[in-house]
Amino acid sequence: MTGDRPTVLFSRCLGFEPCRYNGGIVSAPIVDALRLFVNAVPVCPEVSIGLGVPRAPIRLLGTGDTLRLVQPETGVDVTSLMHAFTDGFLAGAEKLYDGAVLKSGSPSCGIRDAKAYAEAERGSASRRTAGFFGRSVADRLSGSAIEDEGRLRNLDIRQHFLTQLFARARFRTVESRRETRALVLFHSQYKLVLMAYSQVGMRELGRLVANPQRRAASAMIAEYGARFMAALARAPRRGSAVNVLMHALGYVSERLTPREKAFFLTTLDEYRSGRVSLAVPSSLMRSWIVRFEVPYLADQVFFEPYPRGLVDELDSGKGREVR
Ligand code: SF4
Repeated sequence: MTGDRPTVLFSRCLGFEPCRYNGGIVSAPIVDALRLFVNAVPVCPEVSIGLGVPRAPIRLLGTGDTLRLVQPETGVDVTSLMHAFTDGFLAGAEKLYDGAVLKSGSPSCGIRDAKAYAEAERGSASRRTAGFFGRSVADRLSGSAIEDEGRLRNLDIRQHFLTQLFARARFRTVESRRETRALVLFHSQYKLVLMAYSQVGMRELGRLVANPQRRAASAMIAEYGARFMAALARAPRRGSAVNVLMHALGYVSERLTPREKAFFLTTLDEYRSGRVSLAVPSSLMRSWIVRFEVPYLADQVFFEPYPRGLVDELDSGKGREVR
């Protein structure tokens, strides 16, 4: 693929520095691979507010919506410090970051599965919620690609995350050029991605780009960006991606042998049932697009929504466990 490198916020303990409360570091293959293709901004909120390494663990405390962040061993309450750091660090974040990969389960960085305890005492009741920093990242960067490293071990979640992330980075190029031409090209290249995510969204965005009211490019680009990200908000079902590949098959099927077609349909079944990644039928189709020179399909981002190096590294059979 071409286009801008996404800028991604990472929890620093995810392979960047041993900054966990116990002096440890977390091994995360997705982060190791992603770092090669993005501008990485690692941050450790707990170290940034002055807690050392190693340190006594902190906990989320509270039963309602109002939670506090405390260090039970010392009795120190770091809620205000964490709020102040988060507000300062994330000022203007929506313009700076295309996405974030944060540490799962952390009272600071977790985005959905940090434990919040009713009391500071050991063994008190707990529930799962977002950590302080993770919640603010999700609020400020709503519409961006945000996940934790644990969920990114799931192939479908990872493919969706990477597609969103690199789409945002590409769209920044359109925003910076402020030309209708650039928007029309972007839309035409993302047509099959949109078809997989939302056929309604694809048609609405097509009407917007046609621009019957002759609106100014900047207004159109702003509206398109918001609607495009909304269309990509939820991961597509595998069946939708299969439909797109069947649509593509229509462009090449007359030139394939019966055995080639049968083999392709088998790989589609394997993808549908989760035995292979989307990259398998997609690469096969791509080889035919190159061989038969089908310009409409050759330009479609669907066949390479993120760098091929990430496919080789992550989707070639490794790391397909489902949580
Ligand atoms: S989870 Fe967040 S706060 Fe905790 S060590 Fe990692 S980066 Fe620091």
